[in-house]
Amino acid sequence: MATRFRRHQAAIAISPFQPLTPHGQKLLQQALSSARQHIPQMHSLIEGRIRETNGKAYLVHLEHRTCGCRSFQDEDSPCSHAIAAIYATIKH
Ligand SMILES: [Zn+2]
Repeated sequence: MATRFRRHQAAIAISPFQPLTPHGQKLLQQALSSARQHIPQMHSLIEGRIRETNGKAYLVHLEHRTCGCRSFQDEDSPCSHAIAAIYATIKH
């Protein structure tokens, strides 16, 4: 039982050199790819409206880590809209 527990702990240990699980890496890659399709309209360096090509728009606040799609705050990881806002801020 103790060996099994240690093996489980080792499997879920987070290394500073591998901060994301394979599933997390896949989600981040999808968000990065989608972010390039969005049209950002930043109101400031921390807040803006991000429009998708289908017409839907979401308000993003980078400082509060929130997005109208709720993924940013619920998943504690930047959604494609937040990444689009970050891209726009960097280009600004
Ligand atoms: Zn979002």
